[in-house]
Amino acid sequence: MDEQKMGKVWLVGAGPSDEGLFTLKGKAVLEAADVVVYDKLVGQGIMAMIPTGIRRIGVGKEAGHHPVPQEQINEILLREALAGHRVVRLKGGDPFVFGRGGEELELLCQHQIPFEVVPGVTSAVSVPAYNGIPVTHRDFCSSLHIITGHTKKNDEADIDYEALVRLKGTLVFLMGVSAMPKICQGLLEGGMSPDMPAAVLERGTTAHQRRVVSTVSDLPQAASLAEIKTPAIIVVGRVCALEKAFHWAEDRPLGTRKIAVTRPKDRNSSLAEKLRLLGAEVVLMPTIETEPIANNQRLDQALDQIGAYSWIAFTSAAGVKAFYDAMSRRRMDIRRLGPIKVAAIGTGTRRAVEERGIFVDLMPEVYSGAALGRALAKTLAPEDKLLLPRAAMGTDDVAAPLREAGLSFDDIPVYDTKEGTCDGPGYDETVDYAAFTSASTVRGFVKLNPHIDYSKVKAICIGRQTAEEAERYGMEVTISAQATIDSMIETMLGLEP
Ligand code: SAH
Repeated sequence: MDEQKMGKVWLVGAGPSDEGLFTLKGKAVLEAADVVVYDKLVGQGIMAMIPTGIRRIGVGKEAGHHPVPQEQINEILLREALAGHRVVRLKGGDPFVFGRGGEELELLCQHQIPFEVVPGVTSAVSVPAYNGIPVTHRDFCSSLHIITGHTKKNDEADIDYEALVRLKGTLVFLMGVSAMPKICQGLLEGGMSPDMPAAVLERGTTAHQRRVVSTVSDLPQAASLAEIKTPAIIVVGRVCALEKAFHWAEDRPLGTRKIAVTRPKDRNSSLAEKLRLLGAEVVLMPTIETEPIANNQRLDQALDQIGAYSWIAFTSAAGVKAFYDAMSRRRMDIRRLGPIKVAAIGTGTRRAVEERGIFVDLMPEVYSGAALGRALAKTLAPEDKLLLPRAAMGTDDVAAPLREAGLSFDDIPVYDTKEGTCDGPGYDETVDYAAFTSASTVRGFVKLNPHIDYSKVKAICIGRQTAEEAERYGMEVTISAQATIDSMIETMLGLEP
């Protein structure tokens, strides 16, 4: 059978959770997949990288549901590959580190299904790193051992504790939360000093990671007091004491915050990137989509007579895109715009204009439609003529000051905003802040999350209108001092204890 028809499986490690720890190769194959078969431990940020419309099959244990048995997962992979699909089997950490990656390849091998393995960053090494614990250090140990606290059969793990103790290396136990008392007891009976530093590290590399650092004799009690739950790893060894000096992840300005960003995916970049640089865990939860208006006769007319306009004002990057796309469909390049002057509502829109080869002549001090309208009214002369290509559901804020000043302008809808039509991760109470950059993102959010308790949503809103919409649903609203992305970020930083 030819390879094309047969399909192919990529066994991909997603890393411990932080999407920044996903490999470039992993991301590339994910974006080219026909179907993604994923586990529960795959980070939300990585799930959000799966392109819209790609089929997803969850096989991990969800609350109240049993995991899909291994044989059945193997069958799913085989079935999908035989159907000619590009199958990405996405697993937490590294697929071959207690990930049953080997078992999943066996059936594929029997059927000569082509496959590739994309290793991932294992939690065994990265979770300690995010907790300030280097798994090796020349002063303390000369080996690292990764052990499972869980066995295939239901009986006790077959671990030679004496041998482990003799090796004097750092011991990392995966899947060991429920077996922790037995593990620590085994190590003590195997001759380990009761004072040996030991730690349990929960939900590592997420904004809500927690750790309990203690000794091998006290760890089980300390962990149960702290109500440590799975997923967590246990680290035993002198390196655990280094955490006191080397902790760093939660010390970043937003290192303990999980923030939902609700703008459309292609416009997320500046807000999401800035938040990540400050250490936040960002979940892209787009709640609106924009769609250029098809067969837009009014826009066509305006482009026919583009020479009649002396100014053009953009109120969003989506408007810029729709306008330039319409130009290129007609094979008009920017030379056809002639000496026209250009205004932009704010920095994101300005960037979109400048990327297309035109520098912006006017931008208001604050990001708002009213401020743009006022700035235009002040700058334009009575003989000027303005083109205003914008959202179909645009408010009157921009237009009102122009009308008052008696200026001549054409307000032309170039795209529609669709609220709540996107697929992607839903909101849950692990989200600390939800960032809203327009009233439509609030409405889209509500449509996508109809059954949640809105009073628990901490909404960070870019301006009055956005805040009013969020208040309408009873959200806990904080409004940024200025209507800019940077000011929204300042606001979040100000909320930190
Ligand atoms: N293949 C994975 C391990 C799968 S076994 C890897 O290489 O990381 C599942 C166990 O991994 C969990 O029970 C837990 O012990 C550990 N684990 C995975 N992700 C984790 C995380 N973010 N924080 C703490 N432990 C994690």
